[in-house]
Amino acid sequence: SQNNAELIARRRAVMPAGVGQTYNVFVDRAVNAEVWDVEGKRYVDFSGGIAVLNTGHQHPKVIAAVKAQLDKVHHTCFQVLAYEPYVELCERLVALAPGNFAKKAFLLTTGAEAVENAIKIARSATKRQAVIAFGGGFHGRTLLTMGLTGKVAPYKAGFGPFPAEIYHAKYPNAMHGVSVADAIASIEAIFKYDVEAERVAAIILEPVQGEGGFYVAPPEFVKAVRALCDQHGIVMIADEVQAGAGRTGTWLACEQWPVAPDLITMAKSIGGGFPISAVIGKAEIMDKPGPGGLGGTYAGSPIACAAALAVLEVFEEEKLLDRSKAIGELLTTGFQAMAQRHKSIADVRGMGAMVAIELCKNGDPHQPDAELTKRVCNEAIERGLVLLSCGVYANVIRVLVPLTASDALLQEGLKLLEESLVAASQ
Ligand code: PMP
Repeated sequence: SQNNAELIARRRAVMPAGVGQTYNVFVDRAVNAEVWDVEGKRYVDFSGGIAVLNTGHQHPKVIAAVKAQLDKVHHTCFQVLAYEPYVELCERLVALAPGNFAKKAFLLTTGAEAVENAIKIARSATKRQAVIAFGGGFHGRTLLTMGLTGKVAPYKAGFGPFPAEIYHAKYPNAMHGVSVADAIASIEAIFKYDVEAERVAAIILEPVQGEGGFYVAPPEFVKAVRALCDQHGIVMIADEVQAGAGRTGTWLACEQWPVAPDLITMAKSIGGGFPISAVIGKAEIMDKPGPGGLGGTYAGSPIACAAALAVLEVFEEEKLLDRSKAIGELLTTGFQAMAQRHKSIADVRGMGAMVAIELCKNGDPHQPDAELTKRVCNEAIERGLVLLSCGVYANVIRVLVPLTASDALLQEGLKLLEESLVAASQ
């Protein structure tokens, strides 16, 4: 078998540069929140496959459910021959979504697909075309979701033209000078400068911007967006692809909102590592597209449905929502203590276990330190810790560790992170 360097060379020779590679590591095996590479080196995994592994690597219940499903039927295409796990999962997802109204749900494969479908439904229901998304938001890499994404490099540069009728408002970000009032004013400005509110089908926002830097939407902002949507007949969409599935201490982050969205997109951790996504929402809106308008060959694969049902069981049995809150407290406390010792940590923030630190020069929010952030991540991987950065200024280190990780492992990760920060600061 080959070592990391040899495998990276093969990868480079055959694969395009556009598929990024954060670390020169090839994985051999993984358990819960630990990973071993092809050279036998162990890593603490704070990345969770980018928010996919809230139930950890190789959760025995998830793996057993998938194996059992594999032995029965693994593909029919749901629209041709249906199977119960798909329906059961929709029943569960509907029951878990907030909002005092009848709801429906259906399944897809990726987060981008869920977002695309939410927009299709909003357009079909309102007979309108325009969509408002937010600066710093991330919604996927397909043409429509790339258009919705509010960050040019690296996601959009060179890939246009983008679909028409997409407008970007400001996402509130107190640390970087965007107040809730500024953000709402930026939506009103779109109504004034770009498109009349009566032609807007949807406003889509992440409850916590994931790729954008773990900035949390303040409750008063969410309330104001809801009021604008109600006033103008606009569909409000919560993109919970990264924040959902228990990461923020509740099953959905929007459960902590003072108002309910009309449509919700989920993906990533609902499948425990198997590709599945969902759109959940108000029945009267969801029922608008006609038969054949929604779906996909692999959408809601039996394998992924079995995995997702097992994930829901694990959440109940292991009380992972409580664990998410506890992990959030542990990480926040640890990071706040670290911030006392290191001026470069300009902010510690999050919601539940969706926690991040923001690194700046001299602790000054106006001097984001993307270089230091990159060095910390590189020092960390050397020390056996997998970190992910994010943020519009590329200066945020986010934690997406499995919620099944032990306190001891979390403490080990925090210690490695601080050692990496010290080394990177020299
Ligand atoms: N929406 C959000 C909020 C995301 O974080 C992501 C992925 N990072 C996506 C959509 C796209 O999901 P996928 O990569 O599965 O298409």
